[in-house]
Amino acid sequence: MGRWFSLFLFQLGILIFAIPPTHAAAANKPNIIVITLDSIRADRAGFLDAKHPTPALDVLAKQSIVFEHAYAQAPLTVVSHATILTGTYPQTNHASELGAPLAADVPYLPDVLHARGYHSGAFVGSISLDPRNGLAPGFDRGFDVYEWAERTQVITRATPWLGHQQAPFFLWVNISSPPASADSYRAAVISSDATLEKLLAALRQQKLYEDAIIVVASDHGESLGAHGEDTHGIFLYDETIHVPLLLKLPQTRLAGKRVATHVRLLDIAPTVLEAAGLPVPSQMQGQSLLRIAKTNSTTNLPVYSRSDFPHQAFGWSLLESWRTGKYLYIRAPKPELYDLSADPNATHNLAQTSKAILQTIAAQLDAFDSHFSPHGSASGTELTSSEMQKLASLGYVGLQKTSSASAAVEGTDPKDQIAIANQTLSAISALEQDKLDKAIAGFQQVLSTHADIYLAQYGLGRALAQKKSYADAIQHLHKAIELQPDSTWANYEIGKALVNTGDFKTAAVHFEIASNRLPESAEIHSLLAQVYEKLGRKDDANQERAKAINLGAKP
Ligand SMILES: [Zn+2]
Repeated sequence: MGRWFSLFLFQLGILIFAIPPTHAAAANKPNIIVITLDSIRADRAGFLDAKHPTPALDVLAKQSIVFEHAYAQAPLTVVSHATILTGTYPQTNHASELGAPLAADVPYLPDVLHARGYHSGAFVGSISLDPRNGLAPGFDRGFDVYEWAERTQVITRATPWLGHQQAPFFLWVNISSPPASADSYRAAVISSDATLEKLLAALRQQKLYEDAIIVVASDHGESLGAHGEDTHGIFLYDETIHVPLLLKLPQTRLAGKRVATHVRLLDIAPTVLEAAGLPVPSQMQGQSLLRIAKTNSTTNLPVYSRSDFPHQAFGWSLLESWRTGKYLYIRAPKPELYDLSADPNATHNLAQTSKAILQTIAAQLDAFDSHFSPHGSASGTELTSSEMQKLASLGYVGLQKTSSASAAVEGTDPKDQIAIANQTLSAISALEQDKLDKAIAGFQQVLSTHADIYLAQYGLGRALAQKKSYADAIQHLHKAIELQPDSTWANYEIGKALVNTGDFKTAAVHFEIASNRLPESAEIHSLLAQVYEKLGRKDDANQERAKAINLGAKP
């Protein structure tokens, strides 16, 4: 008995010694759970509009602080999640829907918490948020575990992780929603709400609910035809930017509190840190919402949003918006101004009739923009001079060095071309559902009048490659790369098509460009190994194969 006892003590001694000091300091920190839902409009969450009950959200809302006017900084999955997790604006974190890596020098909530002794896990349902094979390279920084799983499997994967987690932990769960039209949207919201309920039930069952900080937010909304937009990604009106946001504090402090002032998804990371009693990195650009909630502040935070997607995917103008008081100002080639108190659906543009107000608000946005360098800092995706030279030698013409990073409010106004955007995005959706003929017909129709749309050229190339029409696919992917040379996925797709036509030399150039931008993709390293092998570059092939195996590829 005694011997066992002393042995036990000895082991305990080792254990205590082995725990890094940060863990000891973090011992009584609360667990933190951030749950992001996809595409839920604020006016379709039951706790904000009783006409559309969402049982899980509505129960949670009663135990949470409810932010009635929370706004996304971008109408896009990847960019919005970057804002949530970094507490920085899109032009600072450089995330994009084209797969640009998250800037390594921005503060990152998982990383900050991990450094403070938190165990950290991410379970994401959106393929876009996969750092290795999606559009979110760099998102796994600071996570012990980062898993993408099928939409329906996310909770099944997260629950066992929760079960053997030591406190304190940080869990991020992304609940994606099935693609939805205006008709099926209600069902999609209900399905996401039911998935949320499964996670909350698991937390309650494991006695982790009461003491945890729980944040629930949607990354953006859904237009459902408003302003002519079918889905989301282009426009900055309330349908896609006004989102549900709940904050449940330990022991349900401030439960049921309703905050009416304007707040932002940008504020989530600083809020979580303050609620956990941790310092907020000075580079975070949002602010903690706890003070606003506690003091009944009536001062709206100014709300900035932007979408670079019309520029990056379509070659049109980017859009920026500024919400101040009752006004929504949209900076576009044809500017827009709405008085949302009188015109909540933003249908009467006052830009021509309220010029003085327009100028005042435009000046506020100018002042805000002046805090950022003119074209933002380097995004990390731009092609190097040597990459540019290699592409030029392969016959690519008119390459723009800063294609996706440099942008201004100029050129085609997205609202004049929204039907083309709808058509392109509908074809992308068909492609994602393997409806290749439908996708091809859609892209071809777009390109018959708008040959300069990157997303349509890329989509058509990918669809044709899936149909094994490699020569045609290569033509369209070549055009896509001329329009967007730093696109990881266009370079990846053309590389694969070129392998199929036996042009290994050209394929190598494209795989190298893709790999430089997505260095954690085992698949791209494997493909590079194959083409180097074919080219007789044995050493290079071995190096790439080793990298692939290191990243989990089968030898
Ligand atoms: Zn989304």
